[in-house]
Amino acid sequence: MMIDDERARLKMVDEQLAARGIKDRRVLSAMGRVPRHRFVEEALRDRAYGDHALPIGEQQTISQPYMVALMTETLALKGSERVLEIGTGSGYQTAVLAELAAQVYSIERIVNLAAKARHLLASLGYRNVTIKVFDGTYGWKQEAPFDAILVTAGSPEIPMPLTEQLREGGRMVIPVGERTTQVLKKVTKTYAGIEVTALTGCVFVPLIGGHGWGDADA
Ligand code: SAM
Repeated sequence: MMIDDERARLKMVDEQLAARGIKDRRVLSAMGRVPRHRFVEEALRDRAYGDHALPIGEQQTISQPYMVALMTETLALKGSERVLEIGTGSGYQTAVLAELAAQVYSIERIVNLAAKARHLLASLGYRNVTIKVFDGTYGWKQEAPFDAILVTAGSPEIPMPLTEQLREGGRMVIPVGERTTQVLKKVTKTYAGIEVTALTGCVFVPLIGGHGWGDADA
């Protein structure tokens, strides 16, 4: 079983990530190490390394491997960064970030998901991750500024508190658009202000909160 999981994971890295243009060797090797099958329920284990998102309960999803790789690569992490993630979900993306940065702060609004992810990440040995239950559209002011911010849910706009909490030279990646479809955007903070570039179309669950969608819109 373990050998099958590892084989499936390396195949995922070759066929879904490297073959589609993910070049950052650190991202490819991190995703070759993180046991994605541990972040889905046992019944979905056989599909854990497939080219798709999967349900994780609470009407939420673990993102498609390629999307995780693309978002992570966009942050250009070198190892010394403090990273903020909005939307812990299963904790899979959190683990990939923890492999590549010094410290990861992750916010999840659903208590059960945060508790499960916290437990799993600790049991896998990740010591550089802190998770809290909160509305992530307000960021994490006490720990700001961040070198990089990754938002894993679709927002109607770029939340102002997040750009404020990005340090100069910092990068943020965030899906922005409608409730059901968005465009993945890269936001760079420079001394002159904010630069935004569009990367690709995407489909994420809604970012719900004060600077996101209203609860009733979800
Ligand atoms: N990256 C996750 C993974 O690897 O499993 C997938 C995250 S899922 C696509 C999006 C997550 O964002 C959901 O768990 C959802 O509850 C969470 N979320 C939505 N709005 C939020 C908010 N305002 N603050 C924090 N988390 C939020």
